[in-house]
Amino acid sequence: MSIAADTIAAIATPAGAGGIGVVRVSGPAVPAIARALLGRRPRPRHAHLTDFRASDGSLIDRGLLLYFPAPASYTGEPVLELQGHGSPVLLDLLVRRVCALGARLARPGEFTERAFLNGKLDLAQAEAVADLIAARSEAAARAALASLEGAFSRQVQALFERLVTLRVQLEAAIDFPEEEIDFLADPALIAGLEVLRGELAALQAAARCGVRLNDGLRAVIVGRPNAGKSSLLNALAGSERAIVTAVPGTTRDVLREAIELDGFALSLADTAGLRETDDPVEREGVRRARLELERADLALLVTEAEHAEGDLALLAEVPAAARLVVVNKIDLDGSPAQVQMRAGVPWLWLSARTGEGLDALRAQLLRLAGAGGEGAFSARRRHLLALDAVAAALSRAAEALGAARAGELAAEELRAAQRALGEITGAYTSDDLLGAIFASFCIGK
Ligand code: GDP
Ligand code: ZN
Repeated sequence: MSIAADTIAAIATPAGAGGIGVVRVSGPAVPAIARALLGRRPRPRHAHLTDFRASDGSLIDRGLLLYFPAPASYTGEPVLELQGHGSPVLLDLLVRRVCALGARLARPGEFTERAFLNGKLDLAQAEAVADLIAARSEAAARAALASLEGAFSRQVQALFERLVTLRVQLEAAIDFPEEEIDFLADPALIAGLEVLRGELAALQAAARCGVRLNDGLRAVIVGRPNAGKSSLLNALAGSERAIVTAVPGTTRDVLREAIELDGFALSLADTAGLRETDDPVEREGVRRARLELERADLALLVTEAEHAEGDLALLAEVPAAARLVVVNKIDLDGSPAQVQMRAGVPWLWLSARTGEGLDALRAQLLRLAGAGGEGAFSARRRHLLALDAVAAALSRAAEALGAARAGELAAEELRAAQRALGEITGAYTSDDLLGAIFASFCIGK
């Protein structure tokens, strides 16, 4: 536990007027500041109703003062919470008063950064604080809360400990090269590594799902002009944001629509389609569409019955992880709404105009967005990259151990894996990483 030299203060409630506003203060000067405001020693964790006064004695506001001594506080430092009326003007005066008493304005995320530095939460949990605040759907909020409670960190920590045990075992085996027995060929060692790789793969899958819950499913709608892409987007979003016209090629820019489907966040992009064109404006649209596609979780091809087979080529050039085909405008030819699997890709017949068959599409989207996943927690792309690095190192370790009996090499890979895993929880970090993570927080958190 380390206590910072300076004391920080910020308005912790959202900008603007509200019923109640909270000023939060953390650091070594807090006991003195609390005493100055209250006129006596505050009782720990007790709500004191008091007058907040400026240095000239004039009344700023009347509200509650709560004092949390270290280390049982959010930051691990002495913390003061001042609850007043939710007026930006009054709260500003209150912050200025606290600063006059020895605090300075906090940077974004600085309270949570101190909580991390004092071991109150690890880095993945600290990130979950920001994700919880930013959650755009009920599922995202629930997942972020699970991560904040340590659902993800505990699994990372368990893997970390197993990895250390395995590395110690391996290093012990290396230390006895003259022995009769080939310790490096110990089946327990090799089997242990395989089990670890299996568990890592499961955690990777769960974390991928966690990123999707956090960011929302990123879907891209592709298809020929006039297939009904904008109409479908509008039907799903239940709004009229995309411009629907009968003129081909009107959707020139990439249009993103964030919608919440049954509590799950879904981000849909309508693209200009991917056809070759000489029109520079339209070419720009195609370029942006391709960029969208590279980041998408799902590509959704919208087509019509008579064009379906020909349009399939569009889907082939999409790098997205999952694909769906929508055969739109069934109201025109009277075909029934249905779902068929073709070469592993679900095909859905529906009408964006009448809404027939739209529920089946919603169900498919929900499944892809992570609905029905048990024990879900939130994760970030940064975590996925770290887990990828762990997997790569473990795979190289297995190779070194299996074929070449290269113990030193394998041990080095296990150390690299341990490092990458430790980056998730913050056991290993750089100032740059911490700076980047906490700078994206809001002030007062
Ligand atoms: P986009 O170019 O792929 O975005 O296509 P739009 O959504 O702009 O639609 C092109 C035309 O097809 C418009 O006139 C729509 O009203 C029409 N359209 C879209 N979906 C349907 C549908 O399900 N049934 C019918 N009959 N017309 C549709
Ligand atoms: Zn369109």
